[in-house]
Amino acid sequence: MVNAMCVLEKCLFSIISIVTLTFSALSFAQEKDTSSSAMPAEVSILIQAYPEQHLRFENNQIIFSDGTTMIYDDGVSKDYIQQLDHSDIEDMFLQTYEMTGAPTYLQDAGRSRCEPFFKKMYGDSAKAVKKNLVNVAWFGKNIKFTQINGAATQLQKVADDIQAHHPELVPYMKSSGTFYWRKVRGSDRLSAHSYGIAIDIAVKQSDYWKWGHPKATETDTINYKNRIPLTLVEIFEKHGFIWGGRWYHYDTMHFEYRPEILTHAKAHQSNL
Ligand SMILES: [Zn+2]
Repeated sequence: MVNAMCVLEKCLFSIISIVTLTFSALSFAQEKDTSSSAMPAEVSILIQAYPEQHLRFENNQIIFSDGTTMIYDDGVSKDYIQQLDHSDIEDMFLQTYEMTGAPTYLQDAGRSRCEPFFKKMYGDSAKAVKKNLVNVAWFGKNIKFTQINGAATQLQKVADDIQAHHPELVPYMKSSGTFYWRKVRGSDRLSAHSYGIAIDIAVKQSDYWKWGHPKATETDTINYKNRIPLTLVEIFEKHGFIWGGRWYHYDTMHFEYRPEILTHAKAHQSNL
């Protein structure tokens, strides 16, 4: 009798285990299925931010209008440095661009760029990027910026806005550079200046993390510094530019056309 009970118990246990395993396998399969076909919120943001690109999404791939595909999420888990060095499109949204207060430790939203994605949009060489540079009237000078994705038009709006409504900010507007095909100092990553989407201003009133900490590595603790008025920063942000002064690795002269990062930040704020 004892033996019979044992057998029955074992039997029941096996049945329960099989049922449980089957259910969990089914729900796992369902989860998998959903994740491969549904569009992540970040992809919708990307598509909205760059309407000129007519991007589409299918099975973890971003599809460009000419049919070129790019993996959205490479599935590789990366530490902070690896994310900067080998950013896929998904990695660009791992951090949220914070528009208040000094940046917290390693808060660098927008500093990681998926190089193939930007090269595809703006050009994969200095020569290719140059073809799309146009003039922006910038406080008595002409400066070059890419016309792709409306970046030059948006930069012109920044200048017009400041000229019309904030003459007190004009002394900060001297540009020390826009397009320049180069690597970020001390790294193998292409700078945003390479794509014609970045501008440096107000060098004399600016701060850069490496100036104060020439020997620091990218994971060292550093002190934040900024002398750029936030009113100026907000005008750039209103027109689609992120500011290097919102980064832990601050670069307060640096503004870069990244509408997807700002839309992502606003979506995050409204979900709070
Ligand atoms: Zn810069």
